[in-house]
Amino acid sequence: MITFSLQSGSNGNCIYVEAGDARLLFDCGISGTLAAERMAAHGRNIADVTAIIVSHEHDDHVRGAGVLHRRYRIPLYITQATQRRAQPLLGALTRVHHFLPGARIEFGDVRVFTIPTPHDAVEPVGFVVEHERRRLGILTDLGHPFRDLKRLLESLDAAYLESNYDPEMLDTGPYPPELKARIRGRHGHLSNGESATLSSAAVRHRLKWIAAAHLSETNNEPELALDAHHGAIGKGFPVHVASRYAVGDVLSV
Ligand SMILES: [Zn+2]
Ligand SMILES: [Zn+2]
Repeated sequence: MITFSLQSGSNGNCIYVEAGDARLLFDCGISGTLAAERMAAHGRNIADVTAIIVSHEHDDHVRGAGVLHRRYRIPLYITQATQRRAQPLLGALTRVHHFLPGARIEFGDVRVFTIPTPHDAVEPVGFVVEHERRRLGILTDLGHPFRDLKRLLESLDAAYLESNYDPEMLDTGPYPPELKARIRGRHGHLSNGESATLSSAAVRHRLKWIAAAHLSETNNEPELALDAHHGAIGKGFPVHVASRYAVGDVLSV
């Protein structure tokens, strides 16, 4: 299985995974044109995508999904409640597959497990993609380090893991108090420290690399996320940062 990030952050999220015969896009919170360009940067044709799978209705995850769905006739996988909430952003849909949070979706011998999360959306989920016994996590917008998240990470070979904010930058930054409280609350986002603690436990198991993901522009810096993870795990461990501005490297799982 291989993967790369088209973009990751509160300005738009889209992760590509290729396994078996499946070509999957997890969320599309960037424009259809940008998604096509960034796929082409690694020699992939967006028209070949098998499915777009949506995690939740926030615009940084769905903004471009309806356009890609219509322009390239790519089937969309989404929960019913998420579709209802996201309808104004998605527009008209024709090839929709509904799943229940916690359900498994199969594409040939590739399995996608949907993982309910405590984020502040109607039916938010994270994902684990499994193929030939390799398991990749796509885990952002997690709320807080919920029960079972640690064990889930220990079952993975690689993961995109939310590392949204540096607590000091959030505390001293320009956001209004209620937004700060939302971000660090139980239904918001994971801090660098929370994320690093989780990844440091998982490296003692199967985890081979981690990609810090969904970094805040205002309340984080890639170097701070890297330092937190390296501080917890050790400098030798491969830690990537999924960029807010550019397509990422092709990573193997
Ligand atoms: Zn998000
Ligand atoms: Zn969200």
